[in-house]
Parts: sequence; structure tokens; C-alpha cells
Amino acid sequence: MRSLNESARLYDAACKVIAGGVSSDIRRSTTSAPPLYIDHASGSHLWDVDGNEYVDYVLGQGPLLFGHSHPRIVEAVTKQLARGQVYSAQHALEVEVAELVCELVPCAELVRFNSVGSEAVQGAWRLARGLTGRPKVLKFEGHYHGWYDSALFSLHPSLDEAGPADHPRAVLGSLGQLPSAADGLVIAPWNDLAAFNRLLDEHAGEIAAVTMEPLLCNTGCIEPHAEFLRGVRERTRRDGIVLIFDEVITGFRLAPGGAQEWFGVVPDLAVFGKAIAGGLPLSCIAGTAEVMRPIVEGRVGHSGTFNSNPVVMAAAAAALSMIAEQRDALYDPLRERGRRLVEGIAERAKAAGVDILTSGPGPIVQTYQTSRSAIDNYRDFATVDRERTLRFHAALLDQGVNSVSRGLWFLSTAHDDADIDRTLNAVERVFDDPT
Ligand code: PLP
Repeated sequence: MRSLNESARLYDAACKVIAGGVSSDIRRSTTSAPPLYIDHASGSHLWDVDGNEYVDYVLGQGPLLFGHSHPRIVEAVTKQLARGQVYSAQHALEVEVAELVCELVPCAELVRFNSVGSEAVQGAWRLARGLTGRPKVLKFEGHYHGWYDSALFSLHPSLDEAGPADHPRAVLGSLGQLPSAADGLVIAPWNDLAAFNRLLDEHAGEIAAVTMEPLLCNTGCIEPHAEFLRGVRERTRRDGIVLIFDEVITGFRLAPGGAQEWFGVVPDLAVFGKAIAGGLPLSCIAGTAEVMRPIVEGRVGHSGTFNSNPVVMAAAAAALSMIAEQRDALYDPLRERGRRLVEGIAERAKAAGVDILTSGPGPIVQTYQTSRSAIDNYRDFATVDRERTLRFHAALLDQGVNSVSRGLWFLSTAHDDADIDRTLNAVERVFDDPT
């Protein structure tokens, strides 16, 4: 067992001044131990305030494609800090980053910047409603598009409230959320083209946008069926609906051009965050010139004090330049290490007689505590053994491995073969110890 005395002391102190002891709900501890209190981080590793070392597969919930404190990002940010933090005026780095996004991302002809994913989603939805004059957005059950009132619906609803699988109800995600926000949403099941088409028929003329995580990463790691993704693209184009990919996780992580490059299906609009600035808070709305026109003409409002501030843009210019320079040479090893990791976990599970299913394309992978052979949507995911998932996560933390508690693993270019070996040895010890 790890010693966590200083972490416990800090958590006690935090609970007296920070509501719930943490600054984002996802950081609440899912184990009996206090949440992680980090002293410092470097590359693929974290060290907590008690001196425990972890191989880190959380990577800030995804942003750290290059690991912690990559020298090129540290240098760019440090240099910029001495030249000013926020100008509320234009600057060259902003143009450089916009050019890099347009070079890398297939749908990007014009961009606008924000700070975090949740607000960029709001901007994209407003833009789609402004463009089409229609009131509603279709989102899929199990997909996460940020924590704002209009979006926090039907992420992981209780099955008592969720309604029929092929016609889900919009279920509020939080007390205090504006219930009428449900009027702006239509909820659809993921990977079910017949249900999707039926819902669009039912709401003909009302839908401004269809939004999805093109690789679903907040409910397992679930790829879209090829015919489903193609069908959604064709139907939205036919009906004049704006297809929005929420690439806050997949952008610049799955491939240089994100999921739209990886799956070969190009949306009208996409939202980026997390990896775009190598770990600093930047998000971006990117789309075709036609879809972005209402912003160009000033008919759809879009603002933000910290938008494109030069510090985050320095980090983004460094991160995106590394991606543009290296392309496959950067992503191929990442995919290979992710594949080694999940195949190694699956092998060890089999040897120990433990049911584990794995999925994911490499830079993001998933382990599920289930005997099922496939997970295709939220209703499948809801059958996964949550208690066993949390116990696996907690046991791995004790062995010096930090993964996302719901079974997701992010890889960075800083992870090497020694990290994977060390992780697989830890997994083996956990499987060998049934307690
Ligand atoms: N969209 C997706 C797919 C996400 O995973 C997240 C955050 O995890 C968001 C949007 C919201 O981004 P942020 O937390 O930066 O507001």
C-alpha cells in the first residue's frame, strides 16, 4: 500500500475551503484514498506529495499528447510570458495557430478560438442555430459535450429514467440545471442508423445540428460503425443540418487531422480543445467558410476575454508545429504502444481467468470489466461491472499506475516501452491478487 499521509492532510485542509475538496467533479476520489495530490510531473510520470511515483495515463484527461512539460512547449510559454499574457488585441501567434489548424484539419477553412471545450460547443451550437434558423440540436446518449446547462443531458442516465433504447429521453445531468434546456435537444442512440433516421423524420425542419463524439470516449471508447457514420453524413447533408464533430478529445490525438481524418468522414464544423495547446487551456471552433459566415458577418456573436491569449497560443504553435512536422512518425509509435498495452492487459486477464474486453485505436484505449464481446453504445456500456472497474483502477494506483477510473487510458509520445512493461507487470500483480 502507498503511504498517503501528506495527501490526506492536504485533502482535509482542502475540504475546509474548497467545496468537496476538488475543483472539478471528475477529480473526486473514486477509491477510499484521498484524491491524488501531485508534487510534480515530467514526461509520462507523476510524483505525489508523499513521494509515490505513477506512470500517468490520465494526462490531464487527455490534453498532454506530448506528456508533462515537453521542453519545446515549456520554452515557448516561458518566452511568451516575458512578453505579455493577454493583450485583447491581435498578434502573430494567433495567425500562425489558425493557419496550422486549417492545414491539419480537413473541415477547417475558418476558425475562432475559446479557452475550454464546453464554451466552444456552445459557440458551435449557436452558430448552427443562427445559420439554419432552426431551434434544436441532436445529440447521442452517452456523449459528453461539456457541463453547461444546454449540454449536460443523457451522459450516463439511470436506465429507469432513460426511456426506450431506440427513442431515449433527455435526462438532466445535475440538480439546478435549467429543465427547459431539454426543449433544445433531441437524444438519439449511438450506432443505430434506423433510429437516427426515424428521429430526424419526427423532428423534420427543427434540427439545426447533429453533434457527436466521432470516437465516443466518455462512455467506453466506442468506434462508430462505418455505415452509421456514412449514413449520418449523407442524411445531414441532404437535410441541410450542420454536422458537428466534438473533437475535444480526438482532435490532434487520434491523427493530425483528428477523427475526421482517421475515419475519412468530414463534418461541416468541429470543436477542438485538450490536445490543441499541449496542456494549456485553448479550444477552437473550426468549419467551412460557408458555415462560419454568420460569425464573419457579425450576425452570430462570439466572445471571450482570454480567447487566443498569446501564452496559450505560444503553446499551441509549439504543439501543432510538432504535429505538422512529424505526422505519422509521431502517431505510429503512439498507436503501437497503445496496442501493446491493451493486448498485454487482455493476455494477462485471460491467463488469470478475469473477464476483460478492450477497445480503442491506440492513442486512446479502453478496458471494460465485462464478459461481453462488444460494446456499441451507452446501453451496452451500462452493463459493465462498475464496482470491479473502480477496484481495478484503485489497485493499479497502489501499484503506481494512474488510469482514468472508468477504464480509459491516454497515451503520450513520452510513454516508452519501459512504461508499458512496468504497467503490464503491475496489471499482472493486480490480477494475481484477488483481494
Ligand atoms: N467535449 C468532450 C468530448 C469532452 O470530453 C469534454 C471534456 O472532457 C468537453 C467537451 C468539455 O471540455 P472542457 O472540460 O474543456 O470544458
